[in-house]
Amino acid sequence: MASDQLSHYRDKRDFTRTPEPAGQFVVQRHRARRLHYDFRLEVDGVLASWAVPKGPTLDPKVRRAAFHVEDHPLDYAGFEGVIPAGQYGGGDVIVWDNGVWEPASPGDPAAALTAGELHFDLYGTKLRGRFVLVRTRAGADGKQEWLLLHKRDEFAVPGWNPEEHPRSVLSGRTNDEVKATNLDQDPQPLS
Ligand code: MN
Repeated sequence: MASDQLSHYRDKRDFTRTPEPAGQFVVQRHRARRLHYDFRLEVDGVLASWAVPKGPTLDPKVRRAAFHVEDHPLDYAGFEGVIPAGQYGGGDVIVWDNGVWEPASPGDPAAALTAGELHFDLYGTKLRGRFVLVRTRAGADGKQEWLLLHKRDEFAVPGWNPEEHPRSVLSGRTNDEVKATNLDQDPQPLS
């Protein structure tokens, strides 16, 4: 994480109001069978995760569908590369944004997620300000549908489109560049 993000975070945070330690967050742009953004928050030692087909936005008028998916290990937050075709999630992945997050009010974030609504602040490179995750449907198939939205605050930007900010915050690369590098380094057999 860039040091200016951390200092920004420390400046913004009121440690007397919110005693919870901050967790990391990461958003990975993942071109699998369908393009989506994997939105992950560190909660209780794992990355609670949602697949957001259209990606997060700073536009406060937009609500993005977010599908709750399985927790990922913390060290996955740094993964950027190519998942081989034929494996689950096959496709290319970049670290599209990262930083730290904290709940908007005191309390247990895991309990808030279980209850289906979490308000939180992101201190990332691209994503800043107050966001909300709210569960809208717990399907009979066990899949949970949520909405991800940005509140109206000083970081809100009408019309903000994640696809116009396509580069990795780790390497500066696009998904295409990650895919091409991987092919160069690990050529497929011709047969
Ligand atoms: Mn994914």
